[in-house]
Amino acid sequence: MGESLEIRCKGVGVSEGIVVGRVLRMHGNTGYVYRANIGAGELELELDRFQAAVRLSRSQLQAIKDRAERELGKDHAYIFDAHLLLLEDQKLINDVENSIRTEQANAEWALKVVSDRLLSVYSEIKDDYLRERGSDIEDVVQRLLVALSGKQPAHRNLSEDAVIVSQELLPSAVAELDLDFARAVATDSGGWTSHMAIIARGLGIPAVVGLRDFYRRARTGDAIIVDSSRNEVILNPTRATFERYQSETAHRTSTKAVEPARQAGPLRTLDGVEIRLRANVELPAEFAGVRKYEAQGVGLYRSEFLLARRGVLVSEDEQRQAYAEVARVAGSDGAIVRLFDLGAEKEFDMAKEPERNPALGLRAIRYGLRNEEMMRTQMRAILRATTAGNLEIVLPMVGDVSDVRRARRILDEEVESLAGAGIAHGHVRVGAMIETPSAVIVAESIAAVVDFFELGTNDLVQYTLAVDRGNEDVAEWFRTLHPAVLYGINRSLEVARSSDIGAIVCGEMASTPAYATLLIGLGATDLSMTPSSMPRIRRVLSQIDSNIARDIAVESLACETADDVEDLVRTRFREHWPGVFPLSSLPVARKR
Ligand code: PEP
Ligand code: MG
Repeated sequence: MGESLEIRCKGVGVSEGIVVGRVLRMHGNTGYVYRANIGAGELELELDRFQAAVRLSRSQLQAIKDRAERELGKDHAYIFDAHLLLLEDQKLINDVENSIRTEQANAEWALKVVSDRLLSVYSEIKDDYLRERGSDIEDVVQRLLVALSGKQPAHRNLSEDAVIVSQELLPSAVAELDLDFARAVATDSGGWTSHMAIIARGLGIPAVVGLRDFYRRARTGDAIIVDSSRNEVILNPTRATFERYQSETAHRTSTKAVEPARQAGPLRTLDGVEIRLRANVELPAEFAGVRKYEAQGVGLYRSEFLLARRGVLVSEDEQRQAYAEVARVAGSDGAIVRLFDLGAEKEFDMAKEPERNPALGLRAIRYGLRNEEMMRTQMRAILRATTAGNLEIVLPMVGDVSDVRRARRILDEEVESLAGAGIAHGHVRVGAMIETPSAVIVAESIAAVVDFFELGTNDLVQYTLAVDRGNEDVAEWFRTLHPAVLYGINRSLEVARSSDIGAIVCGEMASTPAYATLLIGLGATDLSMTPSSMPRIRRVLSQIDSNIARDIAVESLACETADDVEDLVRTRFREHWPGVFPLSSLPVARKR
């Protein structure tokens, strides 16, 4: 500290908090690779673990190859021969095993070091064909890493102040983080609504994202400060900076604001409109928050996180247990399980070719309908789990009524088959995520075939404005308060009202006080959010009048640009509720 140059990098603070720690660089997108020291007495076990991963990967590849041969013919299956050959390559395997022995390192680390060395040779080869073989190596290494992660490594010698620094963290990687050690996260890409950010907030790990070029500059072991409130990370802080932060964090913890005592009974606005607050959850580590913050049930269980850990499908029985657990956590208010929202950034099929345009690709309900057996298994597991509590299903990224009809038909068939087999199951209501412009436009017909709407504002902003929610280069165009977005929300809520079905808003908008107030103005009364956001949402919404919020929402709908809406919101909120919205909680107009 103090010897190297202090580097400050600006990003976006997406999960609150300040952490003073040490950099732990995480390679790659899926699965993190860390260095653990293996004691001499445990080296044989580590070698066994690596050999088991090689065997598992081999049998997986053989199965994929057989399927490809059956379905596509021999001409296409040869690709997997190259992968199989790599796993047979004694030089590669021996090098990894030697590295485990001589370095006394864990298998993941040894594999990464050996393969990085190999890849650097390939990347310099002039011949296109040979250079491309490098991607086969990457693919096989990725498969081996997933196979290794299937069995928990025995050692996790991470330092206790590890700050994960990475170019991009996919949700699967966050799900794998060892929570006892990961103190904070700093990434080059990402935005407020990327899943990494949502999970970090859910777990209470401070995070700054969108740092662009930070990963390249940081080295494992460097001192680092992650300051989410200043949207900043500081690498190699000087002694003066370090001491200032030490005292600031000590001060903050000792004077941490005590949450105001919770008002008794349900949350009501000043004029008496009752607002229901439900919880969004992804990982078991977040379940405790549902009770702690007195959520009225689980409004969104992002079930795909069940798969994120391993890259393999979880069996029907394991799924049934997981859904039963969510139902128990939710209590009598019940839980809404969203069918796997796979694809896009939540890819789990390691053998799948990357899509050209994943956000517009085989994602969410499309992925489920294409992999019907997977969808059936999940539906059966949910139907059976209803014996433990009240569960509902929501279909992700519905485009129109045909998506709902197809999913409902499959559900009906599964109900019938369970009944035929005499297997205990209950009734589940079915809702549609409204998160694409097309769903908004044809909302009436969707409302006719579902029991409720669930507005995913994260994707609704992304798709309405055609702005990638995780790309920091276009972050200035990601405008939650864009009039087109407000129009879509207003229309969906109106259709739900006139069709006499419920509407829950579950995107990140619901957990931001200023945005939530506007949602109330647009007529929302049912919000779902990360449990830890509930105290501040309760505090704010109990101090606003829904009629005033309605007037502001109507004015906002007539605005032409997001800047105009933000200016208006700032002015009106300060006028009507000066003490309720501190300046820092109001949107800042980003004039272009
Ligand atoms: C959304 O899109 O707003 C949503 C709730 O779903 P996810 O963030 O998982 O896409
Ligand atoms: Mg979504």
